[in-house]
Amino acid sequence: MNTYTKFQKHLQTELADIQSAGLYKQERIIVSPQGAAIRVSTGQEVLNFCANNYLGLSDNQELIQAAKDAMDSRGFGMSSVRFICGTQDIHKELEAAIAKFFKTEDTILYAACFDANGGVFEPLLTDQDAIISDSLNHASIIDGVRLCKAVRYRYANADMADLEKQLKLAQSQRFRLIVTDGVFSMDGNVAPLDKIYELAQKYGAMVMTDESHSAGVVGKTGKGTPELFNLEGKIDIITGTLGKAFGGAIGGFTTGRKEITDMLRQRSRPYLFSNSIPPSVAGAGIKMFEMMERNNELQDTLHENTAYFVEKMKAAGFDIKPTQSSICAVMLYDAKLSQDMAAKLLDEGIYVTGFYYPVVPKDLARIRVQISAGHKKEHLDKCIAAFTKTGKELGILK
Ligand SMILES: *Cc1c(COP(=O)(O)O)cnc(C)c1O
Repeated sequence: MNTYTKFQKHLQTELADIQSAGLYKQERIIVSPQGAAIRVSTGQEVLNFCANNYLGLSDNQELIQAAKDAMDSRGFGMSSVRFICGTQDIHKELEAAIAKFFKTEDTILYAACFDANGGVFEPLLTDQDAIISDSLNHASIIDGVRLCKAVRYRYANADMADLEKQLKLAQSQRFRLIVTDGVFSMDGNVAPLDKIYELAQKYGAMVMTDESHSAGVVGKTGKGTPELFNLEGKIDIITGTLGKAFGGAIGGFTTGRKEITDMLRQRSRPYLFSNSIPPSVAGAGIKMFEMMERNNELQDTLHENTAYFVEKMKAAGFDIKPTQSSICAVMLYDAKLSQDMAAKLLDEGIYVTGFYYPVVPKDLARIRVQISAGHKKEHLDKCIAAFTKTGKELGILK
């Protein structure tokens, strides 16, 4: 057998294992723009309740136009990393707009938030320092921490007694950084940033939040968990994405203290060694933050939609995890049931995803519903009706 034949057999066995465990991921092909209603390759029209399109901006005409305008005036691609010849005036403008939005000192753009998190720890902290990380933090934070030599501490999800314990253990290090997701994507709960901040003050730690699921969504004007807890301007490092609520294209950022972003521009590897975001994305991003300044209509609609959905689903008899975001976890507690229900809902024209072990703890299988400002009342009603019908068919509801 030649080398690849052996490796091929190995992969085939592993892939078969993934398949038999029911964990094989299949891509669903969409043939329309992303939106509240989408068309899939089978020709079926479905209502989409599993996109991170929280503000309904993925197919927004004003953003599409801004992207086209930027392409006309600044071209298609940059063919460079930022510091060589990949920075246009609009990249600087977008960074300034992000800093203004979050009330921070400066911003550095990345190709994605995965890169922002991958490149934030290693340039700032050494083996003399400590990172204290929530156990449910996003994979990109986990990977970023792995690339850094700082001593690692982990606390149970949003567990402040455990965080305090870890902070005490971390007193022997030079600098401490607490890092947390703003919103945790499986339950939709927010990090208790007020208490985290208090503990940080008490034990001499800096605070970093990843606002990927919360920026645009959480807080009256969508400024994320720092707004929710009245901590704007006080968080040392905020990372986030342009790939969710903010139009959903691509792009990530780190925003916060000036010296921190300065140092990242000197040493952050995904910034130094990876391409600039294209002009179309920068131009549309600037327009998007302009829209955020105009009013809070999208946030108001999103918050109303989410409250409406949760209330009606609870009234129908479903068990929904308390949410402070637009992620609603409909708890079913059984892996197979979550798959069967998601399949039946798709037949009813409702596209949602079932999650089960190992993505969520054993016996905590659920269907995750993501509400958008782009959903109309009739979309929400159709979703609730489909859940109720299939819930009865599967014996979940009486
Ligand atoms: C989605 C997400 C990311 C990754 O963002 P991209 O811009 O898509 O790379 C990072 N962190 C959290 C918490 C996320 O939810």
